[in-house]
Amino acid sequence: MVSIDDALKIIKDQSIELKVENRSLNECLGYSISKDILAPFDMPSFDNSAMDGYAVCGIATEYRIVGEIAAGDKSEIKLKRGEAVRIFTGAKVPENTTAVMMQEKTKVEGDKLVLDEKPKEGQCIRRKGEELEKDRLVFKKGYTITPAGIGLIGGLGFAEIEVFMKPVINLITTGNELIEPGKPKKESQIYESNSYALASACEHFGYKCQAKKQIEDNFEAIKSGIEKSLEKTDVLILSGGISVGAYDFVKQALEENGVEEQFYKVFQKPGKPLYFGRKGNKFVFALPGNPASSLSCFYIYVLPFLQKLSGSVKLGLERYSFPLAHDFENKTKRPAFLKAKIQNAQVEVLDGQSSSMIRSMALGNALAFLDAETAVKKGDLIECFLIS
Ligand code: AMP
Ligand code: MG
Repeated sequence: MVSIDDALKIIKDQSIELKVENRSLNECLGYSISKDILAPFDMPSFDNSAMDGYAVCGIATEYRIVGEIAAGDKSEIKLKRGEAVRIFTGAKVPENTTAVMMQEKTKVEGDKLVLDEKPKEGQCIRRKGEELEKDRLVFKKGYTITPAGIGLIGGLGFAEIEVFMKPVINLITTGNELIEPGKPKKESQIYESNSYALASACEHFGYKCQAKKQIEDNFEAIKSGIEKSLEKTDVLILSGGISVGAYDFVKQALEENGVEEQFYKVFQKPGKPLYFGRKGNKFVFALPGNPASSLSCFYIYVLPFLQKLSGSVKLGLERYSFPLAHDFENKTKRPAFLKAKIQNAQVEVLDGQSSSMIRSMALGNALAFLDAETAVKKGDLIECFLIS
């Protein structure tokens, strides 16, 4: 049995090989950039107007309008003192522009421009290079691309960008009692829901689970299922059959497939019987079958590993401390990830903390961490891992 910190360290310290690929702007969301990116030019690349209005030369309240410049126009106008041009947002300001006055603060009488107030030097002008100078670092290697990141990459003129590839993920659920949702169920059966929860947790964080399989509690079937899955996957996630019951065959089946244990069992609640192993460059997480345990283990352990395998420098869920909304005691002897809800800047530990109970997780938005046998008071700061 290892501690939570040791388990996380073992995961983070795995030596891995990252592969790169070029991806188009349309298809790089959530991928991590494989090398530092420098600005290829000043951004903006020319002084331009921040407003629809008038570019003026000199500080005054009256000017003579000498022309018009729209966004995209290649104008040769050079302003002289006392002159103004009608200008639109994004248009290149003419030479000798002192300031741009927004349209709402102007009046036009023939070719005369009258301002409500004197302009301030430089106002409403977006200066060349003010957002980014040429050759400045834009993205550090390992930055995970967000929608705004895509906007910036596109704004810098890149149609595609080199990123780290994401891992191929396969999922195997085990259990004789499991039946697919939608089918009629016998009393002794339960609906197989972990694969759906885990695949969508992958998706939620930008990963795709390429294939999934349900296998009964049969040693040979599990062994050959693992063998086949390992052929075409970087990360195999199993659910169920990893505890100490007479029908828990996953650990032995992994061993017989040559998977080397990195750790087995973590001193935590839920998710004690968590297993992590590797075979060459292929990795295996065997998660306990209880729905809340398997998802909690995904969030805390599988997710940072998937992020590491995709070259991201950001590993794991976002963490923040929030004051507790009520007194609470973790009576168990193990540190706990508690299903919790953050709202109104406080965190509430929800009812239904059993490993089998997923409802509290579905209604909550965080896992609140509390050490073993610890009592905390309303208002105490608790570390929370944000799951949504
Ligand atoms: P196990 O880890 O196989 O001992 O399973 C622990 C508990 O989780 C049992 O009550 C199982 O019925 C339940 N369980 C296991 N796998 C799944 C699954 N894929 N979906 C929903 N519940 C599951
Ligand atoms: Mg089972």
